[in-house]
Amino acid sequence: MEFSDCVFCKIIAKKLPATVIAENDQVIAIKDIAPKAPVHYLIIPKKHIVDVQSLQPNDAGIAAAMVLMATHLSKTLPGSQACKLVMNNGADAGQVVFHLHCHFLSGKKMDAL
Ligand code: AMP
Ligand code: ZN
Repeated sequence: MEFSDCVFCKIIAKKLPATVIAENDQVIAIKDIAPKAPVHYLIIPKKHIVDVQSLQPNDAGIAAAMVLMATHLSKTLPGSQACKLVMNNGADAGQVVFHLHCHFLSGKKMDAL
């Protein structure tokens, strides 16, 4: 389902440009437009799901596909495969785009949370 006011749905539908790093039938990985690390990708399910709290039991395959995309992306890194995965859920947690996504951050030494 495409939500006409959702920037990630527009990217998935190829109605907005993005740098696609990897894609399969369930998820797409793109470069973040405002990177916070030397490597900053977004892992986005193709289904419009608002946030983690909105996931249903039958979305388990999508959640797994997001994590497995991180596995794939980490193996494409030239050096260390270390990466930080971040999911902001809810405005108070810093979520700005209300289509579920996971930040994939790498390419520099990062602090523990
Ligand atoms: P969040 O704060 O977790 O909702 O993160 C949303 C992320 O989406 C931010 O890091 C933005 O830089 C990124 N973003 C927003 N619009 C685009 C876009 N058109 N292409 C790529 N990344 C985007
Ligand atoms: Zn969407």
